[in-house]
Amino acid sequence: MRLTKRTTSRTAAVVAVVLVATSAPAGAAPAAAGPPGEPPKTPTAHGYGGAVSTVDPTATAVGLDVLRRGGNAVDAAVAAAAMLGVTEPFSAGIGGGGFLVYYDAGSRRVHTIDGRESAPASMREDSFVDPATGTAYPFQQARVSGLSVGVPGTLLTWHEALRRWGSRPLSAALAPAAEVAERGFPVDATFRQQVADNAAAFAQFDATRKLYLPGGQPPAVGSTLRNRDLADTYRQIARRGIGTFYAGPIGADLVTAVRRPPVAADPAAPWQFPILPGAMTRADLAGYQLRFPAPTRSDYRGYQVYGMSTPSSGGVAVGEALNILERFDLSELTVPEALHHYLEASALAYADRNRYVADGTSRRVLAELLDDRYAAERACRLDPDRAAPKPVPPGDPDGRYGDCATGAAGADGNPGQSTTNLTVADRWGNVVEYTLTIEQTGGNAMVVPGRGFLLNNELTDFSFVQTPGAAPDPNLPAPGKRPRSSMSPTIVLDDGRPFLALGTPGGATIITTVLQILVNRIDLGMTLPEAMAAPRASQRNSTAPQAEPAFVSAYGGALGVFGHPAFTATAELGAATAIEFTGRHGFVASAEPVRRGGGAAGVVRPARR
Ligand code: GLU
Repeated sequence: MRLTKRTTSRTAAVVAVVLVATSAPAGAAPAAAGPPGEPPKTPTAHGYGGAVSTVDPTATAVGLDVLRRGGNAVDAAVAAAAMLGVTEPFSAGIGGGGFLVYYDAGSRRVHTIDGRESAPASMREDSFVDPATGTAYPFQQARVSGLSVGVPGTLLTWHEALRRWGSRPLSAALAPAAEVAERGFPVDATFRQQVADNAAAFAQFDATRKLYLPGGQPPAVGSTLRNRDLADTYRQIARRGIGTFYAGPIGADLVTAVRRPPVAADPAAPWQFPILPGAMTRADLAGYQLRFPAPTRSDYRGYQVYGMSTPSSGGVAVGEALNILERFDLSELTVPEALHHYLEASALAYADRNRYVADGTSRRVLAELLDDRYAAERACRLDPDRAAPKPVPPGDPDGRYGDCATGAAGADGNPGQSTTNLTVADRWGNVVEYTLTIEQTGGNAMVVPGRGFLLNNELTDFSFVQTPGAAPDPNLPAPGKRPRSSMSPTIVLDDGRPFLALGTPGGATIITTVLQILVNRIDLGMTLPEAMAAPRASQRNSTAPQAEPAFVSAYGGALGVFGHPAFTATAELGAATAIEFTGRHGFVASAEPVRRGGGAAGVVRPARR
């Protein structure tokens, strides 16, 4: 059943808050004004013939170009992702992994690719415990090391997506990106800032320093950044195939960098910790395999919401929260009341995610977490008038339903700000929703010498140790295991046809941002661009939920009345991309107007408006 949409007076109130949130902060350049030489950025595009939304205008432009030349959504998504490996190298690239969700218009089926990095065969449960102290390594020590590098799945994801559903070879998808890597692209303020934030780590490695710290400084905004090594790497892969990466010279160099981190002899200031080697082998790389899990599904107010299953917790957590929220008619509530429900449902789903969801969670438990009867059990913990004390305990997916049984409380997740997301739809109605990452912004800070790409630090998404006295942690490291992710590429169908596709970076906040955009769009009556721009909050079962400043000023007081703890102000949550299908082959492509410098949405044939 789809519930009727909301009242006009509430629309006006929400839109007013959106307008505040979307105006650029004082002194900041508007999203459309990139450095000279960069294609223009538009956060919203209406039209026909196909649509692309990414964080980067060059990647969006290449995706649209592929669509214009008759390529399909998969061809365009891989070409855009390859471009992001060049122009957004601190968030994405062939040194990392990700999750791709695909809607196939011909069969009307949703497929997924799990290209998550996997732990090498040598990984042990205590690999992140310092033998000298018996305690976990500090995060930054684990991050900037060979130890944190998971076996990358991104290149194989591109190859396999094209083989299954694309119409062009990988070489065609890599060519424009190689060209831009060689010719260079203009550095924008976000790129420069990402280097500045990572300067100390980048300075530890000659290859990283040479590429991203010219003259010892972050590159100036408007300067041209060239990456000839990456152009060569892409071209070698295009010529020789992905074997040159997984079982050839590029892979050999990658493994050498992991095992003997290429530390500069003379860093301006040495890293704060010893830089530990990893133990990945060429056999680990040659043995990497994609997985193709069935998507998660939850039905929400008449829509079918498809997401990514384990090792991502995204699909399960978004789906469980939606199932809980469906027990309440949000459209009848005031905005603060609806947001109270959103925050409480997030906390309940997060408690379960932390306690139960990781690589290897049984299908039975996953199915129960997404069962409406389980949601009913959990929803009885959501008091419409009062925020529950945090952390709330997880439920008990024991196969029985009925009461409000609970277990022991779980921990909060890691709120990252790296990673990138892209959304593509073609004229035939195929849709790609793809989140890719190298984990932290800048990954583990090591560019593979001579190859031009950064390595991931994805294995820091494992829990480093079992918390003493707590319930068994499902996310401890093990050989070949994939660390739990929060990535939530999501495709929403309406009667089996695409309605909305969306995703975002943001570490553990990914889940709440995707959920909040869905609630904004489906329950609060916002248009997609309004739903994207609206200020965000993230309650991950914590006594210190996060919220953007505009959210705190708009709703902090009203939510305090429900007993929500004070929000920790966070400049930005996420950097989403989305596409809505308007019927009669129309699209609304939507990117961030302001966050992370603004994104780039485009359509093949703009509508006359
Ligand atoms: N590594 C994180 C995850 O898989 C994503 C990092 C981020 O978005 O900041 O959930």
